[in-house]
This record gives sequence, C-alpha cells and structure tokens, in this order.
Amino acid sequence: MAERFDAIVIGCGQAGPSLCARLDAAGLATALIERDRLGGTCVNRGCIPTKAMIASARVAELARHALAYGVAIDVPVPVDMATVKSRKDGIVRQFTENLAKWIGSMPYVRLIHGHARFVSPHAVAIDGRTLEAERIFIDVGARPLVPDLAGVNDVSYLDSTSMLELNFAPEHLVVVGGSYVGLEFAQMFRRFGSRVTIVEKAGELAPREDADISGELRRILEGEGVVVRTAAECISLKKTRKGIAVGLQCAEGAPIAEGSHVLLAVGRAPNTDNLGLVEAGVETDARGYIPVDEELRTNVEGIWALGEVNARGAFTHTAYNDYEIVAANLFDGEHRRVSDRITTYALFTDPPLGRAGMGEEEARASGRKVLRATLPMSRVGRARAMSETQGFMKVFVDQDSREFLGAAVLGLAGDEVVHLVLDAMYGKVPWTTLQRAVHIHPTASEYIPTLLGHLEPLP
Ligand SMILES: Cc1cc2nc3c(=O)[nH]c(=O)nc-3n(C[C@H](O)[C@H](O)[C@H](O)COP(=O)(O)OP(=O)(O)OC[C@H]3O[C@@H](n4cnc5c(N)ncnc54)[C@H](O)[C@@H]3O)c2cc1C
Repeated sequence: MAERFDAIVIGCGQAGPSLCARLDAAGLATALIERDRLGGTCVNRGCIPTKAMIASARVAELARHALAYGVAIDVPVPVDMATVKSRKDGIVRQFTENLAKWIGSMPYVRLIHGHARFVSPHAVAIDGRTLEAERIFIDVGARPLVPDLAGVNDVSYLDSTSMLELNFAPEHLVVVGGSYVGLEFAQMFRRFGSRVTIVEKAGELAPREDADISGELRRILEGEGVVVRTAAECISLKKTRKGIAVGLQCAEGAPIAEGSHVLLAVGRAPNTDNLGLVEAGVETDARGYIPVDEELRTNVEGIWALGEVNARGAFTHTAYNDYEIVAANLFDGEHRRVSDRITTYALFTDPPLGRAGMGEEEARASGRKVLRATLPMSRVGRARAMSETQGFMKVFVDQDSREFLGAAVLGLAGDEVVHLVLDAMYGKVPWTTLQRAVHIHPTASEYIPTLLGHLEPLP
C-alpha cells in the first residue's frame, strides 16, 4: 500500500534540505529521498572539496615563492597528496555530518535512502515502496557529462568526481575542456606538481567570458607552466604506451597532447534519465533538463523542479535561491520570480574571477548607451603590497539610468569585490553613489570608486 506524505523532496542537494526545513516548520509530513551522500554535488563532489584542494594548492604556490617575501623555505616544495585528500575529506565530512544532524532534527521530515522514480504524477517508487504526495519537489542535480568523443570508450579517464579521489598528482594531466571546472583542476594540479595541458575546442579558454578575460586567464595559467591548446576542433582519445593521447584535429598526423592521465571536463548532464518523468507527465528539453515557469513549477500541477536540473542556474547559490523562491511563494504569500535573480558566479582560479550581470557582448547587444571602465590590478595598492598584481577590474554602466549593468573582477579577492557591484545592482544604486563611497585602505574593494572615475563610452 502507498505511504502518504504531504510533500516529497527528491534529492538532498542544495535546495532540498532547506526546503525540508520550511515544510517541517509548517508541520507538513515530508519524505526526503537521497540515493547517495547527503549534500549533493556541492558538498561531496563540487564546491567544497575543490575549494579545500585549491587552498592546499595555494599554500604550495606561496611556499614556492616564499623566498621572494623573505621567508626561507627550501625549494622544491613537495606536496603530500594523501594529506591534501584527507584534509579535504575531513572538511567534507563535517558538512555532511552537520547536515545529517540538521535533517535528523526535523520532526516531520523522514529521510529515505534510495533511488526515487516517478510512477505517476503524484507517486514515486523507491526500493519496492510507493510514496504519494500532492506536492513533489525535484532537486536531483546533474553529473559530469561523458562526451561523444572518438575513442572515449577505449580509454580510462577521470572526471570532476574521480579527480577528488586521487591521492597522487598525475605525472602529466591532460584536461579536456577549458571552462570553469577544467581551469580550476588544471591550475590546482599544476601547483601539486603535475605537468598540465589544457585542450579546448573553442578559440580561447573560458569561451563564455569576454575576450580580455579569457586572454588574461590564459596568460596567468601559462605563467605557471600550464600548456594551453585551443581551437582543438576534433578531439579524440587513444591509449598509448605512455598513457593517453588526445588528438586535437581531425587530419591524420595532426598534433596530439599526450599525458599520463586525462580529465574530461566538458559539461554536465541532468539526472533525469531514470526518474520516470514520462510516467509523471513532466516535460524535459532536448538535453533532459526540466523546463519551469518563473516560480519553478513544471508543466504538471504540484511538481516543482529546483536547482541545476531546471537549467536556470548551475551553481549552489542559484539552487539555494530556487528554494527561497519556492518557499516564499508557498508559505509567505509572495510571488518571487527566478528572473529577478542577477547572474553572478566566480571562477576560483588564483587569482579568482568574480562576475556579476552582463559581459561586454551582452552590454553591447542591449541597445543601451553603455559606459565601461577597466583598470589593471597592478594599480591596486593592496595587490602591489602582496605581489599579487595579475588581472584587472572592469565595470559597465547605463549612461542614461546610471545603473550598473555588470562587472568582472579578475584579480586579488575578485570573488569578493564583485559583490559591491552586485549589491548595487540589486539596490539599483547609481554608480555615482558608489563613486563617492569611502572604502577602507588598503583593500582591493577600495579601487571600485576609483575605477568609476574612468568610465568611457564602450567603443
Ligand atoms: C567540480 C565542481 C565544482 C563546483 N564548484 C562550484 C562552486 O564553487 N560554486 C558553485 O556555486 N557551484 C559549484 N559547482 C556547481 C554546484 O555544485 C551545483 O550547481 C549544485 O550542487 C547544484 O545543486 P542541486 O541541488 O541542483 O543538485 P546536487 O547538489 O547535485 O544534488 C542533487 C542530489 O540529488 C540526488 N539524486 C539524483 N537523482 C536522484 C534520485 N532519482 N533519487 C534520489 N536522489 C537522487 C543526488 O544524489 C544528489 O545528492 C561545482 C560543480 C562541480 C562539479
């Protein structure tokens, strides 16, 4: 017989647990179903473990340059990857344990381990049980995409999940995919001591970014000894005596990048293939993502899709904001909309890139009169004091409304500094107000008012 709940949440990722807390507070009997570890991608296989390992990589890099700061450390600096991994595992464990305690403290929420599959619009099957509810929230996330490359089935490759389990640094890591995940791993493993080659299909790294950002990222990575091979139009994989050869072009005899290991970092695929969405009547798009309306409702009454699976954001903060939207609309009588969200994200290379709002192409295409200011990080006193002067800041404003359109900060604390502009965008604060704000000296944020003194029409 079916077990009845008021609500079912499928997936304990970034939206699920917080949503459960709201359902619980409302006294609604809720089943939270998770087939793997609590915390989803971010906690176990994404943001947290990568940032923990990036922290180790930064320490190694600083130690290598310690002499320049007057600190005597013997070089070369060896990295103990087993300790890097166990430190990372310990940090992840704290997150999952805290999450388990939190969920355990919710009296109306029952955590059920297993794979959920819809059998009808309001019923899901899990390990021979059937659960029913009027409201079902899908938060199943995504996984690394296995690309359709020639030879992909004949070689063993790493992905963003298995990379986190390595307790050694590959002798030569070839990273296929020069976007966010690939670039973070490339720099981190270069700093751990691997030779690293990035192979990217597009003409530049991070091809969704403005050309000046892509170019600077390339310069930064090449400066650390990462080899970058762009415009690889026809990528193939082949086992060799040394490891794996990554073909870059279709022509016979064309150059290859040969390494001991290969990481495939070419995108994500939604976890909707074995979810019974057809039985539920929930539509998906051509790539398997679930289309939603402004309030994150699917085409079926009583079924919502939150997080990466709805293709309205591929980040933890967007998944969490999805929870906020759904909870506010269900419980607080609000009508929050996903399009009220301003695009923002960071690339956690060192130095990091923080982005908010429009990039240059989008600003130009917006039909507005756009003003732009750009300044190198070498002008920032704090960056000079720290000998971390790579990168630049860039901001776009609307000449008529004086509102910010977007910003990019590639440089010291860029992932933090960009929030100044982001918050001004949410508050519709004119750039002239920020220009007069007095910031703390010496900080990287201090330079935003100065930057705004350099606005000029976008050529
Ligand atoms: C290497 C890497 C680094 C990243 N770094 C960052 C970063 O720095 N900042 C950032 O904002 N984002 C980052 N991300 C992206 C971020 O992790 C995801 O966008 C975020 O986790 C998405 O949350 P979610 O709730 O949509 O899904 P998830 O966190 O993936 O959670 C989905 C959960 O659903 C479960 N599930 C799936 N199907 C079923 C089923 N049928 N039954 C039961 N359970 C199911 C899964 O096991 C999983 O636990 C990174 C991603 C990767 C891969």
